[in-house]
Amino acid sequence: MPTTRNSKTIARVAVPAPLYRLFDYRLPKGCQDLPPGVRVSAPFGQRKLTGVVVACVAQSELPASKLKAVTAVLDEQPCLSEEIMQLLQWAAGYYQHPVGEVIHTALPVRLRQGKANAPQTESCWAATVESLEQAAEQLARAPKQRKLLSVVLDHPGISESRLNDLLDNWRGAMRSLQQKQLVMQRDNRISPACEQEPVAAHQPNAEQQQIIDTIQAQAQHATHLLHGVTGSGKTEVYIRLAEHAIEQGKQVLLLVPEISLTPQLTERFAQRLRQPVAVMHSGLNDAERHRIWHAAAQGELAMLVGTRSAVFTPMPQLGLILVDEEHDNSYKQQDGFRYHARDVAIVRAKRLDIPVLLGSATPSLESLFNAEQKRYLLHRLHSRAASRHTTRLELIDMRRQPIVEGLSEKLLSNIARHIEQGNQVMLFLNRRGFAPLLLCHDCGWTTRCHRCDAHMTWHKSRNRLRCHHCDSEAPTPTQCGECGSEQLIALGSGTERIENLLAERFAGVGLCRIDRDTTRRKGALQDKLAQVKSGEAQILIGTQMLAKGHDFPDVTLVGILDTDQALYSADFRASEHLAQLIVQVAGRAGRAHKAGEVQIQTHHPDHPLLQTLLHQGYEAFSHSALQERRAAGLPPYSHMMLLRCEATRADAADAFMREAREALQHSASEYGGEYGSGAVSIFGPLPAPMEKRAGRWRSQIILQSTRRKPLHLCARAAIARITQMKSAKKVRWSLDVDPVDTY
Ligand code: ADP
Ligand code: ZN
Ligand code: ZN
Repeated sequence: MPTTRNSKTIARVAVPAPLYRLFDYRLPKGCQDLPPGVRVSAPFGQRKLTGVVVACVAQSELPASKLKAVTAVLDEQPCLSEEIMQLLQWAAGYYQHPVGEVIHTALPVRLRQGKANAPQTESCWAATVESLEQAAEQLARAPKQRKLLSVVLDHPGISESRLNDLLDNWRGAMRSLQQKQLVMQRDNRISPACEQEPVAAHQPNAEQQQIIDTIQAQAQHATHLLHGVTGSGKTEVYIRLAEHAIEQGKQVLLLVPEISLTPQLTERFAQRLRQPVAVMHSGLNDAERHRIWHAAAQGELAMLVGTRSAVFTPMPQLGLILVDEEHDNSYKQQDGFRYHARDVAIVRAKRLDIPVLLGSATPSLESLFNAEQKRYLLHRLHSRAASRHTTRLELIDMRRQPIVEGLSEKLLSNIARHIEQGNQVMLFLNRRGFAPLLLCHDCGWTTRCHRCDAHMTWHKSRNRLRCHHCDSEAPTPTQCGECGSEQLIALGSGTERIENLLAERFAGVGLCRIDRDTTRRKGALQDKLAQVKSGEAQILIGTQMLAKGHDFPDVTLVGILDTDQALYSADFRASEHLAQLIVQVAGRAGRAHKAGEVQIQTHHPDHPLLQTLLHQGYEAFSHSALQERRAAGLPPYSHMMLLRCEATRADAADAFMREAREALQHSASEYGGEYGSGAVSIFGPLPAPMEKRAGRWRSQIILQSTRRKPLHLCARAAIARITQMKSAKKVRWSLDVDPVDTY
């Protein structure tokens, strides 16, 4: 096509830089009007970056002589579909984040690096024998081949890139195994899920059927909220809906929190759907992630199961979005581009005019509020699908009771009773390490972290102090840092201390501790879970890693060791999170054929939150919690943004925040007009709940409004001012839209 004055030979490109704008580039000769979503390679300062074309235009605001040229056009077809490009631009606007960074989050690393859109096909390998023993003779003198075969047996259909991650120089050994016909190669672009044995489906019960019918009756957009206790058959409903959508030639996206992404869940879908189901999670390598992403984007994948960032995966036939455990905080990205994957999923479904289903045993107050307002359709599953047992919740009044290392005698004797009956017990404490601090008995000195407003936790088995907020470490002191006394007391209990105590009290009983310290090694969590499944471990002790997703049928007693901190937290969401935790943990008890008991230790047994939750359930709790929020004008009754700032020097933070406040105030009065003055309230600057962290001073300004529009207009205008401020260069600042915590 000949170029004329009106030819669109200038590309507006999103580059991965923290700047709130696009950059204009000249296209190479003969190239014009590229569609949005095509990647280009372009010079940026001294570097060469991979950018994404957002639009092509005939004229730039810059004179032609100032325009740099694109070095190369990387795609023939857009790599990001128009739908995704628009969704990303909406998200950049809504979350007020630089568009180039937003667009780049949506690309797999390989594509950010400028590699070809179509992934290289990788060979995958599977064993022809079922166990190592079957090949024992053939491999008697070949330890390397033995090792390789055991890896292949552990990972059926393992890809070359994954093998490269796990082993060095495996190719020679693989050739030998192939010659011995112990392995075979297959071209396996996506997970082997659809090769699963078929599994008979349950007949949905009446409640499930009605929900399925209601949701299927309408192909257009609606946001459905499915509230049902753990085990009430929510997953069964997801499977039926997915099945139906796939039969219509649609693709399905299921979002799950990272921690509950268990192989069992995916297997369950794969077995029932007998369709290509792939899983996208943080454990994949770049090649694997790229392959799955590409298969989804090509429409080859019937169903994608993924964590937070999967919400941005192009899926041309997307017909249904499911969000499991919708209340989970891990859907919110807590740094950089701070989006909320559940909320983006709802917007995506709305733009595509398709249904989205949010499921939870403990829906967020936001979602329940939206259901109350009739913006979402609420569906309830009232009872457990497969068992008739319910869980009994009970408070243990800790006041004036003998307490051993944070455990009441009452709970200890209950543990003994459940163990004797051959059942399993799960204890939950959201604090790892041995003790949260050491205290000098003679002068009161404590092991404070020098970089944070926090104490360093004593990890006894590793004999180190460690700060859980900045990761600083120090040797365990033998003497007080102030007076030299050797009378150091370990104050409070963490999971490690509870484990020690239980090991003494219940000698000979299998113990298993699951927290970040015991599961750091790759595969360690799987090993631990296997110990629990096999019954080798009878007592489990862990942090919130335990609370989600895993199915432990023989657990009949759950102990929640510490609730008091959350009852009196400064964070207005703390009580909501505590209630969710209690109900979720209760859902872990007595899931299969046994009745369960949950015992909650507290010094505040009369606390209204605990009383409402115990005697009237989560729904009643949520009503009263919502009333409190309404009275205080807090979300969901208002919208919130948080301007955060941190700096190594307190005066730099102060100077920035003072100016930022002025900018916000100015913008608020400009944009408040249309909505009435005072449409946006500004609070602060206030010190962050932890004012000093990792050596940085942190403060925040809270913006609040009952209407979204003026809040967003005000923030946008203020950001334009703030990015121009000199003081902004000396601090790290960010804007958090709809923050889930104020930490
Ligand atoms: P949730 O996702 O709400 O925790 P699940 O869908 O996993 O619940 O169901 C819990 C258990 O009940 C599973 O073992 C499942 O196979 C079983 N189940 C679900 N629906 C039915 C049904 N209609 N009839 C019999 N068993 C069912
Ligand atoms: Zn001392
Ligand atoms: Zn620290």
